[in-house]
Amino acid sequence: MPNPTTRSEAISAKCRDCIYDPGAAGTWRQQVAACESGNCPLFDFRPCPPKRKLTSADLQKLREGTEGHGGAPIAD
Ligand code: SF4
Repeated sequence: MPNPTTRSEAISAKCRDCIYDPGAAGTWRQQVAACESGNCPLFDFRPCPPKRKLTSADLQKLREGTEGHGGAPIAD
């Protein structure tokens, strides 16, 4: 991935590098949304899918890592 040119791209790159597991459930944005590190300075700025596309139940499934969607989106 080329170096980010904006703050938003830099935050996205950091979060993706931090948490994304291609073998786990959900897209990288869904996995970032499921991040539970509330003390991370980037937590409030992390990129997340629109709330209408990810329910709290979806977040819980991602956190538990039991959904097995193989990287496919959980909700549309
Ligand atoms: S907000 Fe979460 S995913 Fe993003 S860098 Fe911090 S700990 Fe990692």
